[in-house]
Amino acid sequence: MFNHKKTDIVVLGAGPVGLIAAHALASRNIDYVLLDRQQRTNIHSYALALHPDTLELLDSFGLAERILENSLQLSTVSIYEENLPKTKLDYTRLPLKYPFLTVISQGELEKILADTLKKKSHKPLWNHRVRFIEEQGNALNISVDRLSEGMTGYAVAHIETQIDKILDYQANYLIGADGHESVARRIAGIDFPEVSPSADYAVFEFKTDADLPNEMRLIIKDNKTHVYWPLPNGHCRWSFQVDHGVASNHSREKDHKFKPINNSGSPLLDHQHLNTFLADNAPWFTGSVEDLSWRILVNFEHHLANSFGKDRIWLAGDSAHTTPHAGILSMNVGMREAVELVDILSTTDTHLERQKALADYNEQRLVDWQRLLDLDHHIYAVDQTARWALGHRNNLIGNIPASGETLSELLAQLHLIDAA
Ligand SMILES: Cc1cc2nc3c(=O)[nH]c(=O)nc-3n(C[C@H](O)[C@H](O)[C@H](O)COP(=O)(O)OP(=O)(O)OC[C@H]3O[C@@H](n4cnc5c(N)ncnc54)[C@H](O)[C@@H]3O)c2cc1C
Repeated sequence: MFNHKKTDIVVLGAGPVGLIAAHALASRNIDYVLLDRQQRTNIHSYALALHPDTLELLDSFGLAERILENSLQLSTVSIYEENLPKTKLDYTRLPLKYPFLTVISQGELEKILADTLKKKSHKPLWNHRVRFIEEQGNALNISVDRLSEGMTGYAVAHIETQIDKILDYQANYLIGADGHESVARRIAGIDFPEVSPSADYAVFEFKTDADLPNEMRLIIKDNKTHVYWPLPNGHCRWSFQVDHGVASNHSREKDHKFKPINNSGSPLLDHQHLNTFLADNAPWFTGSVEDLSWRILVNFEHHLANSFGKDRIWLAGDSAHTTPHAGILSMNVGMREAVELVDILSTTDTHLERQKALADYNEQRLVDWQRLLDLDHHIYAVDQTARWALGHRNNLIGNIPASGETLSELLAQLHLIDAA
């Protein structure tokens, strides 16, 4: 029943962050395995936009063209107060190769990442669930359940997941890209405290006959933040912030099977509520609501790990941070973290060198996230416009889709100074 395998790096989790780590490892000819407990990539839009810098990173792996073919490009983000446009962030003014936001469903992005990985003769090991990791001598021992599905039941047949084999992997390092409930983080003993209150949203996606505004819109009303995104093929996504406590914590479970999770049992998600949400928060939207393909209540928690890794286990993506949803920070920055980890592991020779570079990675990441989430309150206002924006700090921080220098430049368009 037992089976022992050796590799240099184990990547745990084949979400967008683990998949891009695999691309980076493949392009550097490093021996690795990519493990995921699910059967395939997820099938929903979830984190639906790429920042300009992320597209540039994906371009370096030859992926930009296919992504652009399957996406919408947005040049602006408008910020509304109540029902009126207040200000606009203009991405075309950024000195970047791709000065726009790329709207692509997370499911489609993961599919492209997995398909192109396959073309490089690599693929994730689906149905592989990591159950335990321990350090033994100069390596990690990773115990993995290989899963299969079987029919059980007599009166009512149902499909049950079974363990058909237990595999043992020995690896030098593990990249934990295993999401917000990370096993890697837990086994490394890293805390994951809340850094700001969580927020609940009613999320809807539908087709419409409206001439959709080709920009993302953030609507600030009664201290809540609502979000509009146009999607390809005449569809759009709306996220309406609802009272705290309405969505359960389990709503962050992702869907990997071809079945709708319309959660339509909640009255907040019915057609009538959608119409009320639209009339109250976006009276400028007068289009039809057709083919309501996805609706869900979701609770977005905001956590940041105390450390980005320890010894031979290192974190990237949701395993290290969960952020306000409109900025799509966790996935975008997470993908860059994964590639940076691979760079460190591929350019250092000895364990000592790696540990030193990884300690720097940890320090830099913690500083970056303090800045990104303005945990140290370093952003300040220079004039009246900016004071208005700063007054809505809680609605804006983490909700602007950008990071690093790009974020500083967009904040400057709001006359907000990033003083870090
Ligand atoms: C309903 C919903 C809506 C969302 N909307 C937004 C949004 O609007 N904006 C936004 O920024 N973000 C949103 N997100 C969050 C976004 O999806 C995440 O930020 C993104 O998926 C993070 O990518 P990741 O690769 O770090 O982790 P994940 O995508 O979570 O991938 C982790 C992978 O690890 C695997 N895994 C976990 N444990 C194990 C184990 N023990 N063994 C093997 N495999 C394991 C999982 O199966 C999974 O495939 C949403 C999420 C949900 C659920």
